[in-house]
Amino acid sequence: MTGDHPNLHFSSLDAISASISTTRKSFLEHKTRDVEFRLIQLRKLYWAIKDHEADIIRACAQDLRKPRFEAEIAEIDWLLNDVVFTTRNLHKWVKDEKAPDIDLQFKLMGPKIRKDPLGCVLVIGTFNFPFQLTLGPAIGAIAAGNTVVIKPSENAPHSAVVIQKICEASLDPLCYSVVQGGVSETQALLAERWDKIFFTGGANVGRIIAKAAAPYLTPVVLELGGINPAIVSKTADPRLVARRMLWGKTVNAGQLCTSQNYLLVDKSLVPRVVEEFKKAYKIFYPQGAKKSPDYSRIINKGHFQRLKSMLDNSKGEILLGGAMDEEELFIEPTIVLVTSIEDSLCTEESFGPFIPILSVENLDEAISLANGVQSTPLGLYPFGSKADIAKIISSTRSGGVSCNDAALHIPTLPFGGVGESGHGAYRGRSSFDVWVHRRPITSSPGWLESILAVRYPPYAGKLSKL
Ligand code: NAD
Repeated sequence: MTGDHPNLHFSSLDAISASISTTRKSFLEHKTRDVEFRLIQLRKLYWAIKDHEADIIRACAQDLRKPRFEAEIAEIDWLLNDVVFTTRNLHKWVKDEKAPDIDLQFKLMGPKIRKDPLGCVLVIGTFNFPFQLTLGPAIGAIAAGNTVVIKPSENAPHSAVVIQKICEASLDPLCYSVVQGGVSETQALLAERWDKIFFTGGANVGRIIAKAAAPYLTPVVLELGGINPAIVSKTADPRLVARRMLWGKTVNAGQLCTSQNYLLVDKSLVPRVVEEFKKAYKIFYPQGAKKSPDYSRIINKGHFQRLKSMLDNSKGEILLGGAMDEEELFIEPTIVLVTSIEDSLCTEESFGPFIPILSVENLDEAISLANGVQSTPLGLYPFGSKADIAKIISSTRSGGVSCNDAALHIPTLPFGGVGESGHGAYRGRSSFDVWVHRRPITSSPGWLESILAVRYPPYAGKLSKL
């Protein structure tokens, strides 16, 4: 975006096909079954990420003008911690599990559950946290013993180049490869047989992925977007609401799948919440967001134009912000007082720095409105007393909930959507679980034959008297 044109070459169709057959063949040769082999790959990946820290920071700045602090915390540290957590726990996770709740006669068969790798899998990344959301799912896939093809997002081209460098510097090329490309290359990948596809992106492409997977009955994980509501009851603290909600929409300039899409605020609190937003904005960006080194840009002209139309189509009143600069791909954090949940800023996912506020009569109205927009968003952000929050949680559905906060997700908790925000979860232990088949194994010793013989015909005399 803001830097030189990156040296991103899309993979040729021949190269894509060769990558897939090599990784598939390697899986069938059982190379990745060895847990020590997986640990070596992950440790090498850790050091390659460390070695490329400066490249990661630079690429994030070139693609998104992402502030260095955000790149360090949410890309580099996040991934390094993920690898450490995984390598520390892997021996425990791969162990055969004792089967629970087994009747006595079956216990004699030593039942256990093995965590088998799925096979040759595909990870399709996204642009907003290009490193975390591309290499993160791959860490779990490697830990679980799969061979992996990784497709970074072409929308963050500088990051895509660095992801490839990191992988090539660390991972066994026969088992793991990076394919570069856009829509055609993704379609070429999707035309092949996979043992699992992990996609992070929007619901429209999510549907294309699910359809492409269907002929092979390939399981998919869909980490999709969310039209996430924040519900602010009259018992909420307006200062806390404003500071946290502003943060949720200014990190990465609001290009964050877990950020709130709109706020439903009790009418008694609206003026104070708006006042606190203005105060918080001055504290976060004393010279304004445009001059701040701590505020990202929109990824590309397409997304800039999409956001501009959303705001143009809104019937709301802009209370703060609204400035845009297409040349710089800058959009100011913008607070809009909307009058209807049907406003374009509420019904579509903005994935940008818009903060629409809708005044509501009470909690019941807020809950009913939130349930009507996207009934299963990725995140939900209730603010207020414990009782109000409990009521909100028990009357709604969402991928996750963060009470009295914005966008927060503890890195080792399972993360994923429900319904329209996707399905399948990863992070922490779930990153391993999502990539294995739990394979039940029983073994019937010869000496059990006298008991097992009851199942053989002739059945005469074996029927119950009932
Ligand atoms: P997107 O849906 O545009 O997906 C982009 C990817 O899909 C690219 O790799 C592209 O090559 C491919 N693609 C696009 N059209 C295609 C087609 N017709 N056939 C095959 N492949 C195609 O998503 P995006 O713009 O990268 O990301 C924005 C969305 O991602 C938002 O909705 C956001 O909420 C969501 N998101 C979700 C999470 C999560 O963890 N749940 C995280 C980040 C972003």
